[in-house]
Amino acid sequence: MAEGRSFDVVVIGGGPGGYIAAIRAAQLGFATACIDDWTRAGDKPALGGTCTNVGCIPSKALLQSSENYAHADHAFAAHGIAIEGLSIDVAKMLARKDKVVAQNNDGIAYLFKKNRIAFFHGRGAFAGRDADAWRVDVAGPGAATIVGRHVIVATGSAPRALPGVAFDNVRILDNAGALAIAEVPKRLGVVGAGVIGLEMGSVWRRLGAEVTMLEALPAFLGAADEAVAKEALKSFTKQGLAIRLGVRITAVRVGKDDVAVDYTDAAGAAQSATFDRLIVSIGRVPFTTGLGADKVGLALDARGFVEVDADCRTNLANVWAIGDVVRGPMLAHKAEEEGVAVAERIAGQHGHVDFNTVPWVIYTSPEIAWVGKTEQQLKSEGVAYRAGSFPFSANGRARALGDTTGFVKFLADAGTDRILGVHMIGPFVSELIAEGVVAMEFGASSEDIARICHAHPSLSEVTREAALAVDQRTLNL
Ligand SMILES: Cc1cc2nc3c(=O)[nH]c(=O)nc-3n(C[C@H](O)[C@H](O)[C@H](O)COP(=O)(O)OP(=O)(O)OC[C@H]3O[C@@H](n4cnc5c(N)ncnc54)[C@H](O)[C@@H]3O)c2cc1C
Repeated sequence: MAEGRSFDVVVIGGGPGGYIAAIRAAQLGFATACIDDWTRAGDKPALGGTCTNVGCIPSKALLQSSENYAHADHAFAAHGIAIEGLSIDVAKMLARKDKVVAQNNDGIAYLFKKNRIAFFHGRGAFAGRDADAWRVDVAGPGAATIVGRHVIVATGSAPRALPGVAFDNVRILDNAGALAIAEVPKRLGVVGAGVIGLEMGSVWRRLGAEVTMLEALPAFLGAADEAVAKEALKSFTKQGLAIRLGVRITAVRVGKDDVAVDYTDAAGAAQSATFDRLIVSIGRVPFTTGLGADKVGLALDARGFVEVDADCRTNLANVWAIGDVVRGPMLAHKAEEEGVAVAERIAGQHGHVDFNTVPWVIYTSPEIAWVGKTEQQLKSEGVAYRAGSFPFSANGRARALGDTTGFVKFLADAGTDRILGVHMIGPFVSELIAEGVVAMEFGASSEDIARICHAHPSLSEVTREAALAVDQRTLNL
């Protein structure tokens, strides 16, 4: 075991929060180490955390494969392209996904080398404090005891199980299981119609599974703007996702070849359904197992999150925490922003993360994206606002793409015209939302966007037209 290596900054966790924090710390001139325990085939490290290994990246790889299949199945004919004997090789699709993941793992390892970040493969645990530095033990292939003047905890999150129903990744699947189903299930159940449930349900629905989604909340996509949620429900239902809202699960029985779920529906009537596989995507819980939080008195809140202030400071001197393991949205880019901000604060700079301009994206078809306040939030806060919407159906590029579902909606302050929220559902809105984020970061008005020249023909013209709609002067509708 290597002893006594000492660093300015030790990062525990190599997900998007941790690896970005390490890179920024190294850029700022700090001697930096990162500890991560994720392991892939051949006992090799797999940097990138949940996001790279079983989250953002593999889900997008499968969404792309399944969307290509769905296009070949339904959309190509209109272009005069005939395909006979269309089929999907699931093993090949999964192998492609694994390759995309490995490219990202290796990309991060390269970035560590480039930035001279010392990487330790294994589980990091607080061991104590000597003078003005923290001792951290690493257990695993890269076993060592290292010391850091500052420690950044970025240990992420783990999937939440249904009470009394453990994940087995055979019948009851977490996100990792949902991304690795070896054949298209005939009947797929999904508990939780949130972002992950909708993305995973979409993948397997497009490939032919009968998908039933069981959601506890009475409203669909409650965090999204109501108009967007309504349009999304219509689209997903048309695609064949059977979405049941207001459901209360009363029993789950795992059989040899299937899984039976008893539940009460929104009207309180008892129902039962049987599936070949059941994905449980009811949220995630902070992960601090094995971190040694108790040993050094690192404070956790009642839900197990590491307690931090607005600047990601914990209760311990020079110990910071970021990403999924602390309060706030469980999003990779939020984790990254906190990582950058903390590294800059350690350097005495003024790192800053504005939660109001963190974008949200759901990579279904149509895609959904938003930033800022929803219309229902503004109403409940009593803010006077003006709204403007424009549909993709009135846009030339969307017609040429053959994808005219959805709209862009702006919400602007009634008095100052400052943009308060931008909501999108439609093609490539995961990319279009960046304009809304930039606009809000710069404190733009809807008129600013309306006066900016947007390329023609492009989907971004819908954004401009929606901004024009705030002042009721759309040009193409
Ligand atoms: C299916 C799915 C799809 C998603 N899609 C998106 C998306 O499209 N966009 C988006 O923004 N977010 C998405 N997310 C959420 C995103 O993955 C998380 O918000 C993000 O990964 C959080 O980053 P993090 O660095 O805080 O933690 P993590 O990514 O969870 O990384 C934590 C790392 O720390 C390691 N670790 C934990 N404890 C220790 C220890 N004691 N010692 C050493 N290592 C340790 C873990 O093994 C892991 O490698 C998705 C999540 C899932 C599950």
